[in-house]
Order: sequence, then C-alpha cells, then structure tokens
Amino acid sequence: MKVVYCYRCKKDVAGLEESEFQVLEPLYNSAWNAHRDLGYAVDAVSIRVAMRSSGVFDELKAQHLNITGLELEPSCMVFLHKLSSFGPPCPRCGTLLRTSKAQMCFSCGWNGKTASAVAPAN
Ligand SMILES: [Zn+2]
Ligand SMILES: [Zn+2]
Repeated sequence: MKVVYCYRCKKDVAGLEESEFQVLEPLYNSAWNAHRDLGYAVDAVSIRVAMRSSGVFDELKAQHLNITGLELEPSCMVFLHKLSSFGPPCPRCGTLLRTSKAQMCFSCGWNGKTASAVAPAN
C-alpha cells in the first residue's frame, strides 16, 4: 500500500498493490451484491448511506483497515484505489499522475507538453 492522492476524492487514499486488491476485491463484490439485495440503488448517495448503516460493507471496511491501516472512506466511485490505475510520479512534485497517459499534474501544475517543448535546446 502506498498513500496516493486521488483527484476524484480530492484527498489522499490508500493505493493498493495487486495482492492487496485481490484480497479486498471479493469482499467488495459481495458487499455490492448484499447492498443490491437490500433493495438499494447503486449510486454514490445510497452507497454512502449504506456504508454507515446497513453493515454490508463492514467486512470490507475492516479488512481495508487491517491491510492498509487506513479507513475506507470513499469519496469517489472508485472504492478501492489500485496503484496500477494511477500514472507515474510527476517529475516535478512526485504526486502520482492521474493516468499513465496524463500530461499534466493537477497538484503542482506541471505540464508535460510545455515541459518537453522547452526541454534543453543546445
Ligand atoms: Zn478516489
Ligand atoms: Zn506535480
């Protein structure tokens, strides 16, 4: 696990290694199924309510805390943030870029296109 900044959550989240993700994913899937079986709609609002009340996410939350040391507090629809879905670190500030193809850092304003355009001219 590595703490990464999620642009959609707008906060630091637990970035999961593949092995960690594989432990949590089945719990995540069964929580969703249980959530649906209770008659909840699958949208961000009802999930946030259910996270706190229905108990179907308790096992997932407990394991997430156990594995990462961080509470699972989803602020975006990506409950489980996989490290592999993030891009490489920003060359300037080190924040992980949004995707592997990202050309801009929303943390420090680094712009890959501009940066390479003004790259050392001999
Ligand atoms: Zn997020
Ligand atoms: Zn940056």
